[in-house]
Order: sequence, then C-alpha cells, then structure tokens
Amino acid sequence: MRRVLVAIPACIIVLLGFLVFRTILFQAPDSMQTEAVSPASIDSAAAGDRLSRAIQLRTVSLQEAPPPAGEMFRLHALIARSFPLVHASLRRETINGYSLLYTWQGRNAELDPVLLMGHLDVVPVGLEEWTQPGFSGAIADGYIWGRGALDDKSQVFGILEAVESLLREGFVPERTVYLAFGHDEELNGTEGAGVIAERFRQSGTRFALVTDEGMIIADGIVPGVAKPVALIGIAQKGEGSLRLSVSGETGHSSMPPPNTTVGILSRAIVQIEENPMPATLDGPIGMMFERVGPAMPFGQRLVFANRWLFDPVILSQLEAKPQTNASVRTTLAATMFQGSLKDNQLPYRATAVVNFRVHPRDNIDAVREHVRESINDERIQVEVLPGAREPSSVTDPEGAAYRVVEKSVREVFPDVLVAPALFIAISDTRHFADLSDNIIRFHPLWLRSEDTARIHGVNERISVENYLNYIRYYRRLLENLPALDG
Ligand SMILES: [Zn+2]
Repeated sequence: MRRVLVAIPACIIVLLGFLVFRTILFQAPDSMQTEAVSPASIDSAAAGDRLSRAIQLRTVSLQEAPPPAGEMFRLHALIARSFPLVHASLRRETINGYSLLYTWQGRNAELDPVLLMGHLDVVPVGLEEWTQPGFSGAIADGYIWGRGALDDKSQVFGILEAVESLLREGFVPERTVYLAFGHDEELNGTEGAGVIAERFRQSGTRFALVTDEGMIIADGIVPGVAKPVALIGIAQKGEGSLRLSVSGETGHSSMPPPNTTVGILSRAIVQIEENPMPATLDGPIGMMFERVGPAMPFGQRLVFANRWLFDPVILSQLEAKPQTNASVRTTLAATMFQGSLKDNQLPYRATAVVNFRVHPRDNIDAVREHVRESINDERIQVEVLPGAREPSSVTDPEGAAYRVVEKSVREVFPDVLVAPALFIAISDTRHFADLSDNIIRFHPLWLRSEDTARIHGVNERISVENYLNYIRYYRRLLENLPALDG
C-alpha cells in the first residue's frame, strides 16, 4: 500500500516534468525569416480620396436584385479615371454586363497565371444611425468611412492602387496576372465571378494562385494571443440545406391523432440538435494552434504543446461558443418550419429546412446520412436542396503559394504572427474551386474584435494607415510572385 502511495506522486511529477519539457520545446513549425522591406511611398490623400469616391457610389445588392446598372457603370468609369496606367496597359473586359476582368500580360506565357479577386457590390447601409453617413465616404479621425470600406471596395481599389504604382515604376510581371471584380458577390456571385470562372474553365486555365477576401489580421481576437495574427484562409466550408418532410392525416383539428406531422418533425429537429456532427482539431484549426500556440502564456502553451493529452479539453472550450464551434465541425441549423395554413386544419404535410455548413473533412452525403441516422424515423424524407456546395480543398500551408502570401504579410506587417485558418463564411472563390490547388482567402484588414461587426453592420470604416499597408501588401504580393516557382 505504502509503495503505491509513493508511486502516485512520483508518476505525477514525471508527467508534469514531461509536459513542461514539451512546452519548452514547443515552437512554431514556420521559421520564415524575412528581410525588412522599406515601405513603398504612397500618396495617402490621393489614395484615400479615390476609395472615398468609390464608397459614395451605391452599388448595393438587394435580396433579389443586383446593383443598379447606373451606379455600377459610374463605378467602372471611376476606376478607369482613377487608374489611367491600368486602363492603358491592361486588357479590360466587362463580363456579363457589370463585372470587370483585367489581364496583365506576363513576360512568360508558359507559367500558370495568378488571379486576384474582389467584388464591386455592397450590402445596404440599413436603418441604424451611422457616425458618418453610410455612403458619405467621409475621411475623418484617421478613417475612411462608409459601406464598402472593409467589404470590399478597399480590396478592389487596394489591388488597383498596387498595380497602378507598379506600372508607374515600369514593373512587368513574370507570369500573367488577372484581376477579377465580380458585381454580385453578395448574391452568391453566380452572374459575376461564376461567369468569369466558367470562361477560364472553357479555356482550360489553371491558376498558380487565387486570392480573395476572407480572413483578416485579427488583433486581440485569437484567445490567449497578445500579438495580432494574420489568419490565412486555406479552406472554406461547404454549405447547403436539407429539406425534411413528412406526410400524415388530413382532417379537423378537433379529432387529432396522437402526433401530427408537426409533432413528428419537431421531434426530429430536437434529435438533430442533440446529435451534432463530430468535432475535430484536424485540419486548418489544428495547424493554426501549432503556429500560434508557442506565442501563448505558459499555461496555455503547456496545453497546446501537449495536445496528445489536452485535445478533449481544447475541443470542449471551442465547442462552447458558436463562433469557435463553427471552426471545429459541420454545423446544422434548423431555420424554416411549415405545417398547416389554418389553425383548425391538421397539417397533412409538414416541412422543415436545416441549413448546414460543411467542415472540410466532411461532405454533403455524410451530412445527409448523419441527419437520417439521428432522426431514425422512416416516415421523414430527407433531401438536399439544389445549390449545395461541397467544402473547398485545403491549400497546403507548406506550399509555395501559401509561403508567398506569408512572406508578403511579414514584410509589410513585421510584428504579426501568421497562421493558416478555416474561413467559415463564403466568398466568390467558391466558383474557382476546380481551377487552382492554391486558393487563399485572406486580405490584410486589421480588425479588433469590436470591428468585425462593422462588416455588413453599422459604421463600416478602414483606418487610413491600414489602407496604405493594404496597398503595400498587394504590391509585395505582386513583386514576390516569382517565388511561386520555388
Ligand atoms: Zn465581401
């Protein structure tokens, strides 16, 4: 007995020693060393003014209506006026009436081209009061204000500023660079980016790199990490909806059966909510922790250095909040429900819609099977509604494309950590899934947690400083493209 009592503390001490030892050895796998690059000089007043004018154009996508043609054409004209060298040197095509596609011919036609994306449309400003009116484009307090300042006119104009300034210096890219600006991203992008993608599909084009909006530089957002983290979106979730339906008896509600179709379907919804799809730290989120874990305070670092022991603890923490839960699993959300149209009429047929977002390790078939098994009720039909999309493939964070993006981030933002991440929303890159193995959903918006609600919300704004660095990032990305070859 006494021997056992001595052995237990000894084991604990050995275990603790082992955990601490691993914590001390815990280092990020990336040890990319970048030289400091002196920041490109940019006329901040002129660049700010051009973005401000773009924000003033109301290229608003409504639920069922694309942006008004007149505003879209004014935006096209503003772009042509604002970037005369781009207009003169790149081939410009208007695709499907309103989207823009630019071709910047490279020296070497043998190399696969690169595609930089953005979108011209915005969501409405809403009814809430803004500090500066939503379409004012006001430049005040160090910020450029208005709808599109973050999503996504800063990206379109930031890319164009970068190209214009490189053209001014006589820069010619080695490989061809396309700029694609869709006009209906906020409506799924089928008429804009979708049509552009189809054109490239027809011509058999493969891209060495595709970049678009998505993840950001997160300042104070990644728990336990004091430094800002540039989260490089290497994958995007799939999405779609299931329709659940059940038919039963008709008749008057004064003589009901024990369960109506609404009751049967309600039980099914409860089953779905009580049986979430399995969570995992595999994939992009695990890769992110490998890179940011070493920057955490000792206690958390110990946890992430010893994932063999602590994965269940980490997962349960992440599952506790909707935002982080969405990163570790396929989510299911019952969003619509219909029974009878009249209060005293039995519902002959009840239907419900369950929206799902598919983690890259799952697929749509697996989601449907999981739901069928959770419900375990033959009476209920489960079908996938049209328009569902599989999750994207995962861009290799050790690959050349990711490294080029990482290098460009580090050169412009030397004090941030860089880590791969899963993009849980969806961008126009959805249309390009089969056209490149290297799709990056990242643009260098520097956001604190209180800023994230500005996207599609009130008081959207970008700091002038962030916008200048945004332009510098795209300049470095274009200058660094030769590194794609190894
Ligand atoms: Zn957007």
